[in-house]
Amino acid sequence: MAKILLLPGDYIGQEIVPQAEKVLSTVGRAFDLDLELDSALIGGAAVDAVGVPLPEETLAKARAADAILLGAVGGPAYDELPRDKRPERGLLQIRSALDLFGNLRPAIMYPQLVGASSLKPELVAGLDILIVRELTGGIYFGEPRGVRQLENGDREGFNTYVYNETEIRRIARLAFELAQKRGGRLCSVDKANVLEATVLWREVVTELAGEYPDVELEHLYVDNAAMQLVRAPKQFDVMVTGNMFGDILSDAAAMLTGSIGMLPSASLNAQGQGIYEPCHGSAPDIAGQGKANPLATILSVAMMLRYSLQCASGADAIETAVGVVLDRGLRTPDIAEEGQEPVTTEEMGAAVLDALEYQLASGRTAA
Ligand code: NAD
Repeated sequence: MAKILLLPGDYIGQEIVPQAEKVLSTVGRAFDLDLELDSALIGGAAVDAVGVPLPEETLAKARAADAILLGAVGGPAYDELPRDKRPERGLLQIRSALDLFGNLRPAIMYPQLVGASSLKPELVAGLDILIVRELTGGIYFGEPRGVRQLENGDREGFNTYVYNETEIRRIARLAFELAQKRGGRLCSVDKANVLEATVLWREVVTELAGEYPDVELEHLYVDNAAMQLVRAPKQFDVMVTGNMFGDILSDAAAMLTGSIGMLPSASLNAQGQGIYEPCHGSAPDIAGQGKANPLATILSVAMMLRYSLQCASGADAIETAVGVVLDRGLRTPDIAEEGQEPVTTEEMGAAVLDALEYQLASGRTAA
């Protein structure tokens, strides 16, 4: 039995998670996964109900779950709240409570959407990169930090870029293991020509490479990595980097694929427990209008099956079903090109479910 916690959150989170839930239940039945689904409040929805963005009850359910599917949190209704009551705070709290140090951000170019990229089709066709970002350390958490007053009256802002060997080793190990299961190539990104913390990063990653002779390791400075990502992105298989560089590079890689509505993510801890969520936010501008693309959340379910539930066939089935609906020309407004009549969130979800059920029942994919 596997316990799955659904956290829809705010605005479009409430619309996309139900679509993904149907897909998850269908795969669960087809592959005898014996899933126990539960749901809880997070973000603004939790603030409205009980006054805090991460209620104790939600955290308890999260700790007990094998995997969590999250929609998105935040929005204008909550922007004026004090910092500790903000919906985004709930997200940071749950990530750190579960020690989710490994953030996996795939950037996959669906051939049907190649025209949506800002790069030339030949540069992005067939693109399939996985960025592994360290999520709980580095400069975003390093102490000391703050803004101080200097003797000359100037104010000075400061942060600390810090990683210890254990933190580096565990994220690098995760990345090596993922590279083994994919194309066998790993690019570690640092700034070892300037930052001592990343000199250590490079040393530790290089030491670990000895344990993975089947993975080809290269190192790039972050400025070069950024340049290569937009110059020739297909050269990469798996990239591993620290929190800040990963934040920036994963957004750049994501945009190579054209639409934020298509991008799933996973955040994992050492036990394989994970939060799976789309890369986008709660999109208040389109909430309640049936315009939200549910595919990023549905593809997050595929990642959940692959990384927390050890059901790669279920993950493959979902990814195939998404390909089928795109082949059929179904598009939500964010991915529709001129002349294409967009479908609603529910219609897109139902089409994926249809394609999935057809595939599971017949062992084939619908044309
Ligand atoms: P956003 O990702 O919500 O929206 C950016 C743009 O992309 C909007 O035009 C939106 O309509 C569009 N978009 C996003 N997801 C889409 C989807 N599935 N289908 C179609 N179009 C989609 O980013 P934002 O507007 O900067 O933030 C809105 C709120 O979301 C803020 O409160 C922010 O703090 C929060 N946020 C939450 C998360 C999270 O929960 N992980 C992440 C980012 C932002």
